[in-house]
Amino acid sequence: MNEPLHTDIAVVGAGIVGVACALQLARQGRRVTLIDRQAPGMGASYGNAGHLATEQVFPIADWSICKRLPRMLLDPMGPLRLDWKYLPKALPWFTRLLFNLRPAPYQRTVAGLRQLNEGSLEAWQRLLTSIGRSELFHGSGSLLVYERPESQRALAALCERMQAQAVPVQRWSADAVREAAPQLSSALLGGLFFPRTGHFIDPYRVVGALFEAAQAHGVRFVQAQVEGGQVQADHVRLVSDRGTFRASQVLVSCGAHSAPLTRALTGKRVPLDTERGYHLMLPSEGARLPFAVTSLERRFIMTPMEAGLRLAGTVEFAGLQAPPAMQRAWQLHRLSQGLFQRDLSSEGATPWMGMRPSLPDSLPVIDRVGEGRVLLAFGHQHLGLTQAALTAEWIGRLAERPAPAELAPYRLARF
Ligand SMILES: Cc1cc2nc3c(=O)[nH]c(=O)nc-3n(C[C@H](O)[C@H](O)[C@H](O)COP(=O)(O)OP(=O)(O)OC[C@H]3O[C@@H](n4cnc5c(N)ncnc54)[C@H](O)[C@@H]3O)c2cc1C
Repeated sequence: MNEPLHTDIAVVGAGIVGVACALQLARQGRRVTLIDRQAPGMGASYGNAGHLATEQVFPIADWSICKRLPRMLLDPMGPLRLDWKYLPKALPWFTRLLFNLRPAPYQRTVAGLRQLNEGSLEAWQRLLTSIGRSELFHGSGSLLVYERPESQRALAALCERMQAQAVPVQRWSADAVREAAPQLSSALLGGLFFPRTGHFIDPYRVVGALFEAAQAHGVRFVQAQVEGGQVQADHVRLVSDRGTFRASQVLVSCGAHSAPLTRALTGKRVPLDTERGYHLMLPSEGARLPFAVTSLERRFIMTPMEAGLRLAGTVEFAGLQAPPAMQRAWQLHRLSQGLFQRDLSSEGATPWMGMRPSLPDSLPVIDRVGEGRVLLAFGHQHLGLTQAALTAEWIGRLAERPAPAELAPYRLARF
C-alpha cells in the first residue's frame, strides 16, 4: 500500500471482540476496515473453552492468591503458575489486583461484571439469529462438580454468594449429576448447575461466521501488523508493516496486545497483562458430556464441541513473549483421570495456548476517548467470548455518541 488507505473506522484486532464490533459498525452504515497481523480468530478467540460463562461475576482472583504465591512460583504444573523470571514484571500488576480486592473496588468489579454478563446471553442470541447461525450455540447450561466431602462448605458458600448476586443457580445432588451426565464418575458428590449459561460448539467457527457476515456487509480485511498511530485534528493515522491507514475513528481490540496502541493513541499506560491458558482437544470424546462441566477441585473445564471434548483452563503468568509450555496442556488430560466412569482417550489430542487479556480490576476497557476518534474494547480476561456480543452493541453506540453513565465502570480513565 503506497497511498494511505481511507476508511471510516479502522478496527485493529480481529478476535471475537474486533470481528463482532466490525460487523456491528458496518451494519450501522460505516465503512469498516478490519486489520489483523494474522487471519481472523487466531488469537485467544481461537481455542477458548467456548463457555458462555455468565455465572462468573466475581474478580479473577481472591485473597487466597497471597497464600498460593509460593506454590505458583515453585510448581510448574499447578493450575496457577507464575514464571519466576516474570515475577518482577508481574509484581505491580499483582499489587493492583490485591488493591482492587478491597471492599469498594471489589463491589465495583462485581457490578461491572454483572452488568455485562446479565446482558450477554440475549446479546448473543440477537447476534447469532441476525446472521442465521443460532446452531453454533447450545444453551444447555453448565455444571460445576465437586468430589471431596470437605469441598461441600466451599460450594455452599459459593452458591450463596452467587444467589446474592442474582446468578441463576441450582444445587444438584450426586444423583442429579449422574442422571444428567451418566458418563461422569459415580464418585462425584454433586454440584452447582447454571441454567442461564451454555457453550459454543466451536469458538473459532463463531469468529468465522461473524467475519463472513461482516464481509457481506462490506467490511474489508487487511492483514497487517499495526505498529503505531497518532490522533490528528480530523483523522487518525495508523502505521503498519503494510503502509499507513487514515481513518475517522479507530477501534483498538488487540486483546492481550492492546496496551502499546492504546498508549500511542491516548498517551495512557494501561496495566494490561496476560493470563495464559491452555487447552487439549480430544477428538474422539465429543459425546461424553451434555454440557460444559467444571471441576471445583481440579480447576479446569471440559466442553463438548463439534470436533471433540475440549479440556481447558489453567492460568500462567509468563508474559506475551515466552514460548508456550505445552506440557501444561497435556497436564489437563492427567487432571481428567478419575472424573469419568471410563477415562478419556487422548488419541489424536492437540494442545494449544492462548493469551487472556486481563486488567487488575477484572473489568474490560470499553470506551470512547480522543474526542470520539479512539474507541477501545479489550481486557475481557476469562470472559471475552461471553461478553463479545454485548461489547459490540456498546461499541456501536460509542461510535455515535459519548459514553452513557452506565458504561463508567469500563472507562480508560480509571487507570
Ligand atoms: C484457555 C482459555 C479458555 C478460555 N475460555 C473462555 C470461555 O470459556 N468463555 C469466555 O468467555 N472466554 C474464555 N476465554 C477468554 C477469551 O478467549 C478471551 O477473553 C477472548 O478471546 C479475547 O478476545 P479478543 O478479541 O479481545 O482477543 P484475541 O482473540 O486475542 O484477538 C486479538 C487479535 O488482535 C491481533 N493483534 C494484536 N496486536 C496486533 C497488532 N499490533 N496489529 C494487528 N493485529 C494485532 C491478534 O493477532 C489477534 O488476532 C478463554 C481464554 C483461554 C486462553
